[in-house]
Amino acid sequence: MKRFLNKVQKILSTRIGLFWIIIVLCWLKTLFAYAVDFHLNIVNPMQLFILIINPIGMTILLIGLALYAKSTKLFYSLLSILYIGNTALLYFNIVFYREFTDFMTVETITGFDKVNQGLSGSSFALTSPHDFVYWIDIIILIILFLTRWIKFDHKPITKKISFAISSLALLFITFDLALSETQRSQLLTRTFDHEYIVQYMGLDFFTAYDGINQWHNAEMRARANKSELKKIVNFTRKHYAAPNPSMFGIAKGRNVIIIHLESFQQFSIDRKINGQEVTPFLNSLYHSNETYAFDNFFHQVGQGRTSDAENMLETGDFALPQGSLFTQLGSSNTFQAAPAILEQSPEHYTTAVFHGNVPTFWNRNNVYPRLGFQYFFAQEYFNHSGNRSEGYGLKDKLLFQGSIKYLQHLQQPFYVKYLTVTNHFPYQLDKEDQDPNFKTTNTSSSVVNNYFVTNHYLDQSVHEFFNFLKASGLYNKSIIVLYGDHYGISDSENKALAPVLGKNPQKWNNFDNAQLQRVPFMIVIPGIHSGKIEHQYGGEIDVLPTLLHLLGIHTKKYIQFGTDLFSKQHNQVVAFRNRDFVTPNYTVLSGTVYSNKTGKIAKLTSAERKQINKDQKFVNEELSLSDSLNYKDLLRFYHPKGFKKVNPNKFNYGDALEKEEKIEKEKGVGSTSMYSENNNKSLVNLYHTDTPELNNNH
Ligand code: MN
Repeated sequence: MKRFLNKVQKILSTRIGLFWIIIVLCWLKTLFAYAVDFHLNIVNPMQLFILIINPIGMTILLIGLALYAKSTKLFYSLLSILYIGNTALLYFNIVFYREFTDFMTVETITGFDKVNQGLSGSSFALTSPHDFVYWIDIIILIILFLTRWIKFDHKPITKKISFAISSLALLFITFDLALSETQRSQLLTRTFDHEYIVQYMGLDFFTAYDGINQWHNAEMRARANKSELKKIVNFTRKHYAAPNPSMFGIAKGRNVIIIHLESFQQFSIDRKINGQEVTPFLNSLYHSNETYAFDNFFHQVGQGRTSDAENMLETGDFALPQGSLFTQLGSSNTFQAAPAILEQSPEHYTTAVFHGNVPTFWNRNNVYPRLGFQYFFAQEYFNHSGNRSEGYGLKDKLLFQGSIKYLQHLQQPFYVKYLTVTNHFPYQLDKEDQDPNFKTTNTSSSVVNNYFVTNHYLDQSVHEFFNFLKASGLYNKSIIVLYGDHYGISDSENKALAPVLGKNPQKWNNFDNAQLQRVPFMIVIPGIHSGKIEHQYGGEIDVLPTLLHLLGIHTKKYIQFGTDLFSKQHNQVVAFRNRDFVTPNYTVLSGTVYSNKTGKIAKLTSAERKQINKDQKFVNEELSLSDSLNYKDLLRFYHPKGFKKVNPNKFNYGDALEKEEKIEKEKGVGSTSMYSENNNKSLVNLYHTDTPELNNNH
């Protein structure tokens, strides 16, 4: 025992020995935090292995900086700062995680992020008895130094060794990155979830990575100036499409109800499986003469998926080439978006979002106030306990039904958005929520088979909601927009899907993948009878100008990259976020031109080649101008006449029902909520749903 202690003493009394002991201590503490405090979702042994090794590289790299110090004083002070700093970062993240189930960004640490300032006040309540584990090693080492049990080593570590250790650290990080790539490709570029980065690359890496990103963004912003706006304004003015006079204002003053059909693709429309329609109700809307439906409408999202779709629909500008705009820039950017435009219109729209997941998902709690949403009814506004939720949150039938008690108190006209979640990968649905009469496909892919089951459920959910709209009289006072946000079946599963679509999986290629990026887009305008299926090509970027024109609001003064789908000048070149594009005749993927007619690589005349080059140039330009607008936050310099800048601090999403009722009271007989118009009687009982969670006795 004594010999062992002597040995430990000897090791700790050398610089290099102390260094490695500290590395091991930091590593063990992080593993303890992974096991006890962070709830990471590890699903296979490889992920567990990555989790165990992920702190090593960064810890060596960071704390290893001390090795380069020559003087005794500098070495030991640098080492303690890095060691204690590393522990503090871990510990504050643990406390933060207990409150927010998230990791601290650099903005949070530096106090820029105002939303999460509540932490400081309540942080003591978030400590736990086992927290001494994180600090005990430091205390012991300090005592051992004070009692001179550990002695200072005055001999500096050679540059060669220091350098070798740093290189080893970098090697470790590279190894970790390579392993992570096998589990989750594009981990760093997607960045849609802090948790994944911590899970695969560790906490230090996450903080450093986030810091570099923030710094890069701040740099770009600081360097940006007004003159860069000019190019963008010129471009959007040049490509502006004037409204079609026969469509402009046909829905003026109506309530706007946006239904975000999660992961819902066009191929499900009119699709029959075993002789049964997958989505009979949506099909009936699709063919109704009250509906303008589009069969060549594409999603244009990047890695931000749902949030990218929302971003395009609300702002008319593209999302980012990498990652999610909502999470990367949404907390600080300036927007001139649909909710604010409609609130400031002569009709003074009330604006709200209904969503069955937590408000922090995709950073919506920070983005929505900047878009100008007055209300955000997220998960906490609904009973979402037990089997009422599945996967990504409250089941859709319950979301629609549960929203009515809030919807009926909104002043009309309103602009409301329903974000459905049940039709989301991996398309799970409790047996009791499944229609026993609907038999799905029997392909080799369970994802594909399940997809149609949740499609069918989504269809029923929307049907029930429409029944309410009609029963309550809301239907005729509204315009209802339905859209699929992005693909639900990924390219890797498309071969399994091919036979269902009547295609040969052996011949399935990139052209087919691209064609499958069609999503439904339908505009239901009750009372009109001129609706039909439109064939012009377009995408999500075109929705905002199209909608605003239907509502009789001019868009020319705003910076929007899409064009009104009904306009004679509508541009049919549909850009994908990776610069590929589709036109009515061609599909251009990484420069390869496919003919839409044959699905084969096109033989082009020089005139056609010239046109395609021109289209590619247009696509590149609009995407890069949009990126410049977003990355540099250029809208802060842009002041459309009559548009008031949104003050995000005005909005707070707590106690919504009380707020709505207060407004009703203040307005008195002037209140235009459904509830007031119904002589202060609730309309909730007009809602009928067959959802078992409400109808069975459990
Ligand atoms: Mn989505």
